[in-house]
Amino acid sequence: MAFENLSERIQKALRNLTGKGKISEDDINSASREIRLALLEADVNFKVVKDFIKKIKQEALGKEVQESLNPGQQVIKIVNDELTKMMGESAVSLNKSKHIPTIIMMVGLQGTGKTTTVGKLANRLMQKEKARPLLIAGDIYRPAAVDQLEQIGDQLKVPVYSEKNQKDVAQIVQDGLRQADKNKNDYVIIDTAGRLEIDEPLMEELERVKEVAQPDNILLVVDAMTGQAATDVAKGFDSRLDITGVILTKLDGDTRGGAALSIRAVTGKPIIYTGQGEKLTDLEQFYPDRMASRILG
Ligand code: GDP
Repeated sequence: MAFENLSERIQKALRNLTGKGKISEDDINSASREIRLALLEADVNFKVVKDFIKKIKQEALGKEVQESLNPGQQVIKIVNDELTKMMGESAVSLNKSKHIPTIIMMVGLQGTGKTTTVGKLANRLMQKEKARPLLIAGDIYRPAAVDQLEQIGDQLKVPVYSEKNQKDVAQIVQDGLRQADKNKNDYVIIDTAGRLEIDEPLMEELERVKEVAQPDNILLVVDAMTGQAATDVAKGFDSRLDITGVILTKLDGDTRGGAALSIRAVTGKPIIYTGQGEKLTDLEQFYPDRMASRILG
């Protein structure tokens, strides 16, 4: 499970503080050092770690903490609150359009789980809101991607709009949106192309799709296993597309979890959902406070 190591190490560092009647500056420094190393090893962005530790120390060294009845517990609370803040404080929902359909554009590198996540999100909206989504197959370069989305559509009994011989993705999206208007779909989820890394033609295409679709949500799908690189990818997509949120996939894997902890702090954009498996039901709302509690055990 994600965070296992991080969780263990932070808990160990904090255990040394609990049960003590009084904690010294040295105690706090040594716990901070341990937590710092644990975060860096979990692939949390260096600058995010630095700011985090600074805040923890500032607050933990405050008089009220050191003179309180149970200073160890107070420090744990500080770490918990700061971890939660680092991940964005509270859960964030999708932007809803005033008129149907609400348009969601999914972007991300290849293999991150974008196409699968289009299906997961459709399924979630159907379960939670009885939504009637339409999916648009905008990943035309990976031939299997259109088939994959159509299979997902069959499974969910959701229409998938695709155009086999059209090379202009913006045109496909425009036609798909017209179809959604005709069908009165309340959500449109657009799958887009990915690449192994960010490149100019990809970004230009995504910008064109954005212009045509005017999406209410641009969700970046990020693979939690990519560690440090995930924050660079997020910054890259955000600077060109002004994403509205992130979906972090593969949190069920043996990931170190750093991406979950850094993305919000580095981009200012919230993680909205997490992918926790390969099935179409494996998508969860992201709650920063619950994730912090999970890490602190
Ligand atoms: P795309 O290239 O970004 O469209 O990626 P796909 O949707 O084809 O997914 C790539 C692989 O990741 C597939 O084998 C998916 O089943 C798998 N995958 C997607 N999301 C998750 C997840 O949350 N957990 C796990 N374990 N696997 C996932």
